Amino acid sequence: MLVSVIIPCYNEEAVLNLYYKEMDRVTGILSNYDFEMIFVNDGSKDSTLSILKQLAKEDERVKFISLSRNFGKESAMYAGLKNAKGDYVVLMDADLQHPPATLVEMLRIATEEGYDSVATRRMTRKGEPPIRSFFARQFYKLMNKISNADIVDGAMDYRLMSRDFVDSLLRMSEYSRFSKGLFGWVGYKTKWVAYENVERAAGETKWSFWKLLLYSIEGIVAFSTAPLSISVFLGMLFAFFAFIGLIFVVIRAALYGDPVAGWPSMVAIILFMGSVQLVCLGILGIYLSKIYLEVKKRPIFICSDSNIEDIRL
Ligand code: UDP
Ligand code: MG
Repeated sequence: MLVSVIIPCYNEEAVLNLYYKEMDRVTGILSNYDFEMIFVNDGSKDSTLSILKQLAKEDERVKFISLSRNFGKESAMYAGLKNAKGDYVVLMDADLQHPPATLVEMLRIATEEGYDSVATRRMTRKGEPPIRSFFARQFYKLMNKISNADIVDGAMDYRLMSRDFVDSLLRMSEYSRFSKGLFGWVGYKTKWVAYENVERAAGETKWSFWKLLLYSIEGIVAFSTAPLSISVFLGMLFAFFAFIGLIFVVIRAALYGDPVAGWPSMVAIILFMGSVQLVCLGILGIYLSKIYLEVKKRPIFICSDSNIEDIRL
């Protein structure tokens, strides 16, 4: 049975050799499986690609796909999934935060207990900045309320999938990819295993708070149209208030006459309504921009170099 391991790498020169050594050890333990390691170089600016080429020379299980620029982790994972030939496919980070040794347990669960997918989540958010944890938690709560994507809090991208699962994932060739949602959306029997958070072995994280925020918006837009409904609801709510206010003003003017007063409150109301309109237009704009990107049908990744002969683009 062939197991494909997909490793997206962006500026990971500090950790790649460590990672390979660990993988080599683990694949040694799992000697009843064949392995291929598909490293996807996501437009690294350091020596990641030359290290990968060196590894590929020494070990024929090492495959690499080098993207023509930094397309982001989602695109890198898609490139790997598309070219994985294994009966089981594993997504794993290069920084050893996803300990390869747990593969032993994951493969056992998939084969013996008959799961289509074995997914990992962290037990705690220890070692993470507190504000990040706070926003992350709110995001998962919100996401599960407004979408049917069934996203688990603390879910990691470390995941083992069966061939069927991967084929289903690949049928979703959308441009704006939010894997955590896609995994949940395809369904199948998934077993969740929890792990203690592991620190990065070397190098540093590629995610800033800002990047994460944009990514969360991506997730919401990709899996929910609730923001659109909320803006419609807001519009109706304010129209109702405006109508009540209008009746009040007209009756008061008819009964008591109308001395000109209260323009500060008027200005406040106008400004308030103006901003609500802008927010709603903005929400509409975000969805529109996603449609625009989707309609253009641009490739999700562009490969500039690879040692896979029949590479699928
Ligand atoms: N990564 C990638 N492209 C990017 C950013 C990250 O391929 O644009 C890879 C990175 O090399 C690593 C994985 O995605 O293997 C997770 O990144 P990182 O460890 O920086 O994220 P964190 O673990 O801090 O969430
Ligand atoms: Mg990491």
